[in-house]
Amino acid sequence: MSTTQANKIEIIKAPTTKINEVDFENLNFGSVFTDHLFECDFKNGEWQNPTIKPYAPFMMDPSSRVFHYGQAIFEGMKAYKDDNNDIWLFRPDENIKRFNSSAVRMAMPEVPEQLFTEGLNQLLKLDEAWIKKGLGNTLYIRPFMIATGFGVVANPSDEYKFMIILSPAKAYYSGEVKVLIAEHFSRAANGGIGAAKTAGNYAGQFYPTSLANKEGFQQVIWTDDATHTKLEEAGTMNVFFRINDTLVTAPTSERILDGVTRKSLIDMAKREGIAIEERSVLVSELIEGIKDGSLKEIFGAGTAAVVSPIKGFAYKEEYFELPKIEDSIALQLKEKLTNMQHKLTEDPFGWTVKI
Ligand code: PMP
Repeated sequence: MSTTQANKIEIIKAPTTKINEVDFENLNFGSVFTDHLFECDFKNGEWQNPTIKPYAPFMMDPSSRVFHYGQAIFEGMKAYKDDNNDIWLFRPDENIKRFNSSAVRMAMPEVPEQLFTEGLNQLLKLDEAWIKKGLGNTLYIRPFMIATGFGVVANPSDEYKFMIILSPAKAYYSGEVKVLIAEHFSRAANGGIGAAKTAGNYAGQFYPTSLANKEGFQQVIWTDDATHTKLEEAGTMNVFFRINDTLVTAPTSERILDGVTRKSLIDMAKREGIAIEERSVLVSELIEGIKDGSLKEIFGAGTAAVVSPIKGFAYKEEYFELPKIEDSIALQLKEKLTNMQHKLTEDPFGWTVKI
């Protein structure tokens, strides 16, 4: 698609708005959507008919490949509004890059950056009333692509639909999370699709997570599939450990999603002079760390919750609780990052982008 085509987005406005029906103070994450969506179809080898139109269900052929073989990818990002009513994105280029590397891994076409950006920015401008000002108010952005080609043949589709939908979200605090360290199940394997944001990775987590939920744990900490000794991710977040005053997180790999929050926290920590190591953390290190008091904090990092503190973990039938802490590095970094995202403080990294 050429630059001029990307700019020519057809806009069909919704006749009315749903915004007055929404209680912005009591939003369940990901359950309310704005008035419009962006859509573009891939047919005959090219992206065509970029359109913004009213949010609504749509028809698909029952044999569409996405239903049978799960060719589906998505992203998760947020928009923020500052006190001057300007709209900001946080490192959108990182999400677009990751979306396209997920596309390559799932044998799907890449979405040109210009088309993605124009579609998103014009959609945000049209639905800007849904982005509320103030710390804690965000608009969650869900770009996704599905295989729409028909026929139950197990090979890649030749037709796809790319869409962006928007959902207002309050800052979300997951509470004090207890996690179960996986001893049997894994979310990813070497050579597999763990580094792609593809639907099946999430479907595959539901069953082990529901077993953990029944035992009173909110999330699973995934371990490496080969040995189950290395800590990899927490639920759908990257995971950090504070050992004494050093933050440690697993290096990205084929098994780990290259999280935008993760890489931002690493750069922020470096700038603040907080020691940070990207290396594998062993389950045995956690248990020793709890016993000798060197393990101070565990937290998940991801777009939805930003930083999610973990209060304890279970491993092989034993539960270990972290000591209460006054000077939480997790909470300090969370505050700095959310202030930066909401344009309440300087952004020395140039991560925030005005649309
Ligand atoms: N790991 C997984 C499996 C995820 O789904 C997410 C959420 N995108 C993350 C980590 C965190 O990534 P990000 O900080 O880019 O949201």
